Amino acid sequence: MPIRLPAPCLVLLVGPSGAGKSTWALEQFEPGQVVSSDELRGRVGIDEDDQAASEDAFELLDTIVGKRLARGLVTVVDTLGLNPEQRAGHRQLAADHDIPCYAIGFDTPGKVCRERNKARTRPIPARVLTGQIKRWEAVKAELPDEGFAGVFEPDEVDLVPASQLDAAGLAARQQSDPRSLAFGLQISSFSWDGDTADIAARLTEVAAAAESAGFTSLWVMDHFRQIPQVGPEWHDMLESYTTLAYLAGMTTRIRLGVLVTGVTYRNPAHLGKILATLDVLSNGRAVCGLGLGWFRAEHDAYGWEFPPVPDRYDLLEDTLQLLPVLWGPGSPSFEGRAIKVAEAMCYPRPIQDPIPIMVGGSGEKRTLRLVAQYADACNLFGDPATITHKVAVLEAHCLDLGRDPAEVEITTLSRLVIAEDRAALRSEINRLRPRSMSADEYAAVTNAGLAEDHIGRFREYAEAGVHTAIVNLTGAPDPGAVERFGEVIRAFR
Ligand code: ATP
Ligand code: MG
Repeated sequence: MPIRLPAPCLVLLVGPSGAGKSTWALEQFEPGQVVSSDELRGRVGIDEDDQAASEDAFELLDTIVGKRLARGLVTVVDTLGLNPEQRAGHRQLAADHDIPCYAIGFDTPGKVCRERNKARTRPIPARVLTGQIKRWEAVKAELPDEGFAGVFEPDEVDLVPASQLDAAGLAARQQSDPRSLAFGLQISSFSWDGDTADIAARLTEVAAAAESAGFTSLWVMDHFRQIPQVGPEWHDMLESYTTLAYLAGMTTRIRLGVLVTGVTYRNPAHLGKILATLDVLSNGRAVCGLGLGWFRAEHDAYGWEFPPVPDRYDLLEDTLQLLPVLWGPGSPSFEGRAIKVAEAMCYPRPIQDPIPIMVGGSGEKRTLRLVAQYADACNLFGDPATITHKVAVLEAHCLDLGRDPAEVEITTLSRLVIAEDRAALRSEINRLRPRSMSADEYAAVTNAGLAEDHIGRFREYAEAGVHTAIVNLTGAPDPGAVERFGEVIRAFR
C-alpha cells in the first residue's frame, strides 16, 4: 500500500547516513520539493561534504522550508533528522502554516549503512556513522509520540488533495453499504484541438460517451463568451439552447439542461417557448435550469439590461411563476412584479407536464426560499460540509412552507480531473494548470483523482444529501475521460 499524503504537507526524513533517504525522496517527489542539507552545503561551501558549511546550510534550509510552507508547497526536508530540537522546530513551522507534518523513518540495517558508506568516494568516519546508527535506534522509539500527523516507513507515495485523504475508506464504505447517486456532465468549454468545423463532431462524441458511461443529464452554461473562471473570453463558446437542440437530435436517453439559464438574457415567455420546443424535440428530456445571472460584461457587450440583484430576484420569481402557466393549457394572461404576458400560450405543450425546474444558487434567504416555493431541484455548490448545511436550510424553508423536502432534488456542481493512474493524472494536471499554481494546488482546486478517489469524494456528497452530482471534467471534455468516469457512476447505481 502506498503512503497516502495530503498536499501540501511537510515531510521530514529521519535515519542515519546511507539509509537511503535522498534516493527515496528523489524517487517519490519532484526535485524542487526536496530541500537537502547536503545539497545546500554544496551551495554555500566547498561541496556536500564540507562540514564547516553546515551551520550556514541549515540556516538556509530553514529559510527555504519556511518560504515554501508559506506558499503552501509540498516540502521534503532531507537531513539526518536525528536532532529532536530540529524536528520540533520543523513541526512548529508546519503548524504555524496549518500544514500537517509527517516523518519517514529509515530503518535500514546498520550493516547496510556501513557498507554503503564505505563504497562512497569520501566516506564519513566509521565512528560518526556508528553514533548516528545508535541515535537512530533511540529516535525510532520516540518518533510515534512526537506529534507528527503520521510516521511511516519509506514506500511509494501518493500525494493527494487533503480532502481526499480518506477516499479509500469512503470508497470501501460505498462498496459495503452503497448509496445511490445520479451523475450529470457539464460541458463548459468547447476549445478542443482542431477547427471550428470539428466542434459539432467532438460534441457528439462527448455526448455519446456520456450516455454510454451512464450520465443521466448533460448540461451547458448560459454564456455568450467564455467566462473568466474557465478561460479567456475569446475561447469558443456555443449558444446554450441551440447546442441543446443539436444534442437532442444526437442523443436518445440523456436529459438536457442549461446550468443555469440567466433570467436576464431572454424574454421569459420566449424562454418558456424554447424549453417547450426542446422538450418536444427531445421526447421529454428537457430540464429548465434557472438563475439570477451574474456576468455583467456579457450584458454590456450584447446590450442586455443587467438590473440590480433585487430586480433580478423579481424577474426570477416571475419566471418561476410564469413557466408552468405558459406550459399549461389555454392562454391565460400573467402579470408579475417585473413582467407582463398578455397570452401565456405555448403549443405544442411540453411532453413533460411540466418540465422540471432547477434553480441554481446557494443564497440561503432568497434563492433557497424560491427553490422551496417553486422548484423541483436546486443546484448547490461547495464541499460536502457546506452542502449538508445548505440542505438543512432548504429543508427548513420547505417545512415552513408546508412542502415535503423530499420533493426537491438536491444537485451539486463540482469540477474534477480524472485519469487512469497517478502518472497520467500528474501530466494532465501539469498540462492544464496555470503558471501561478503549483500542480498540487491545482489538483486540490480541480479535485484531481483516480476513480477510487472520486468514489470516496462522491460518497461524501451522497451522505450530505445530494441526489445528483453534476461534474465538470475541467477543460474541453475528452471522451476518454468521460468514459473513465463511468467507473465512478457504476459504483453509485
Ligand atoms: P546521507 O544521510 O549520507 O545523505 P542517505 O540516507 O541520503 O544518506 P542515500 O544517499 O539515499 O542515503 O543512499 C546511500 C547509498 O545507498 C546510495 O549509493 C544509494 O544508491 C544506495 N541506496 C539507497 N537506497 C537504496 C535502496 N533502496 N536499494 C539499494 N541501494 C540503495
Ligand atoms: Mg542524503
